[in-house]
Amino acid sequence: MVQRPIYLDSHATTPVDPRVLEAMLPFFTEHFGNPASLTHSYGWEAEAAVQHARETLAMAINASPEEIVLTSGATEANNLAIKGVAEAYLSKGRHIVTVQTEHNAVLDPCAYLEKLGFEVTYLPVQPDGLVNLAQLAQALRDDTVLVSVMAANNEIGVLQPLADIGALCRDRAILFHSDAAQAIGKIPLDVQAMAVDLLSLTAHKVYGPKGIGALYVRRRNPRVTVAAQLHGGGHERGMRSGTLYTPQIVGFAKAVELGLADMAREGDRLTHLRHSLWHQLQPLGGLHLNGHPSQRLPGNLNVSVAGVDGQALLLGLRSTVALSSGAACSTASTAPSHVLKALGRDDRLAYASLRFGLGRWTTEAEIDQVATAVMATVQALRTKTLVSQ
Ligand SMILES: *Cc1c(COP(=O)(O)O)cnc(C)c1O
Repeated sequence: MVQRPIYLDSHATTPVDPRVLEAMLPFFTEHFGNPASLTHSYGWEAEAAVQHARETLAMAINASPEEIVLTSGATEANNLAIKGVAEAYLSKGRHIVTVQTEHNAVLDPCAYLEKLGFEVTYLPVQPDGLVNLAQLAQALRDDTVLVSVMAANNEIGVLQPLADIGALCRDRAILFHSDAAQAIGKIPLDVQAMAVDLLSLTAHKVYGPKGIGALYVRRRNPRVTVAAQLHGGGHERGMRSGTLYTPQIVGFAKAVELGLADMAREGDRLTHLRHSLWHQLQPLGGLHLNGHPSQRLPGNLNVSVAGVDGQALLLGLRSTVALSSGAACSTASTAPSHVLKALGRDDRLAYASLRFGLGRWTTEAEIDQVATAVMATVQALRTKTLVSQ
């Protein structure tokens, strides 16, 4: 069998943890009931499992179970938060504040609302990828209905100061949404301490199944309303209709539970591996770290390499290591990453970037192998460039 490349694309997705799969399996076959069927035990079993999952998810972010609205993932959760708030708070205003480095699942709903007559401020970031709090405070207006700032960036791993942003918003009585797709199970999240009103989650970045996620919607201080974007049977307290996907929901909760249980130790392990990779690459020279050196996800390293062509670099590496230069959804396009552009990187360096996403099964030996492969590939490409010039 051909050896498969080492997987370092954990920001795109992660494999399902075998313990998660094991928890899910009985809900495909034995416990297949519809959680909304309340007239028999098949429904009750499924409903009990969903309720248990809701409690686990709520506990993970210091919320209560009724505040968890299950969705198909973070894309849907972001759409529900942004379009749902925009529609529900029309009488208050039509202004939204977000950041240039957000995921497209936040930027695109905002762009959609602009077409409908809403006004959106896209805040720039500092060269390290962090938002400037003074700039954010300045952008807030009396007609601002929502501020949306992600917890952890999917390309550069940068962790935004959620508690500071939450405090600013709370002070002005403006709702605060955060896309925590990359953060859940990796860094501590607390919707009370961080004054977050809406929080988007997904399972498949944290060793859970694809196609399941949630939106936390605050019920108290303040009580938040979102207008439904999917209408039907009135599931999830009218906010998101559709039969609940019990196996995925059970797997989602199990994945988050496992992530939390080992968060500190796994964070330390990944930070150590990330440092090792960064240090091993140093002899190359011409490396630019993208994003803040320490305010970032433990498993994220994003590097621009001077003096090489980005496409050639990925091509040269692809039999050894599975990684990407940016978001999975934008790798098909030839435009440089909007995130790296927002950091002020020129097009050439933005193209020649490698996003390493280390994960639960990444080993020290793999990191050494990857470092060797990157060194050899970059050196070969640079030599070729010199010769052809
Ligand atoms: C992966 C990701 C999403 C999309 O999540 P899905 O569950 O795949 O829809 C949204 N935001 C961020 C930051 C992500 O990393």
